[in-house]
Amino acid sequence: MTAPAEKPPLTVLLAAPRGFCAGVERAIEAVEAARAATDRPVYVRHEIVHNGRVVRALEETGVVFVDEVAAIPDGAVTIFSAHGVSRAVEQEAAARGLDVIDATCPLVRRVHTEGRRHVADGRTLIVIGHRDHVEVEGLVGQVDGAVHVVESVEEARMLAIPDPERLAYVTQTTLSVDDTRDIIAALKARFPTIVGPDLKTICYATQNRQAALRSIAARAERVIVCGARNSSNTNRLAELARVLGRPALLVEDAGEIGEDFVAGVSTIGLTSGASAPEALVQEALARLAHWRRLDLEEIRVTQESVRFAPVDLGALAG
Ligand code: SF4
Repeated sequence: MTAPAEKPPLTVLLAAPRGFCAGVERAIEAVEAARAATDRPVYVRHEIVHNGRVVRALEETGVVFVDEVAAIPDGAVTIFSAHGVSRAVEQEAAARGLDVIDATCPLVRRVHTEGRRHVADGRTLIVIGHRDHVEVEGLVGQVDGAVHVVESVEEARMLAIPDPERLAYVTQTTLSVDDTRDIIAALKARFPTIVGPDLKTICYATQNRQAALRSIAARAERVIVCGARNSSNTNRLAELARVLGRPALLVEDAGEIGEDFVAGVSTIGLTSGASAPEALVQEALARLAHWRRLDLEEIRVTQESVRFAPVDLGALAG
């Protein structure tokens, strides 16, 4: 009898930090706490965080996810997602008398406050971000007055502003650090008196995951990014890997990883977006282990210690 052929080795560089950020953990815990605290129906406007697995697990406990407040029945507990909502949505829920639990990430809330402050100072606000993303919709809708959304350097160059002397900008929290730097430079070149936070409103978790990706991409031939296709920060990770010249595979489920992606590869990078559970990374490793003998190496660029105070459960508390 011949011995089975030994699997060829594969070095896996695990990015750290990766996966859940403090805002995502806080938002999921808020939904779980609300579910545990009441027998009333619990509705969440929008996915609580952009991850289908997280949403499905909460649905199994009876939580219902809807796109609009209008779809929430009277008397239901109403939760706003980590991405934040516009004032119109807040007002609609208040007018309906719904009990609202606001799981907006404090770092998104901080951008709302900063945007409002600039407008109160008489400045026109530019939001750097993706106009169809729910966070940007909420941010734009939190600011009274003129707001312009800019997605690219090209748009920054084309922007027509009536009062270009009094401008300010803020950014979505989950953007590419490099692209945002370029857009800010383009805005400053056109509008030298513009004021803004530089890259500070891109949140710590987004920045750290991009820095970790950079480190693994320096050595990995290819990169696997675990996370949802509608997650902004997850997409930015896959994009960054490709910009760095590394073929990248974004997977929502480990089953999407094909043997061909690692064929002939000796070192692969593995990371996950801020809304992706660690279980997904572990399943990706188990999948790779079908074909290869894994040698794991964690590449940590920083230690994260950010924790936010729990979401206020309002009428459901204690
Ligand atoms: Fe908050 Fe950043 Fe996480 Fe978004 S990615 S929930 S802004 S910590």
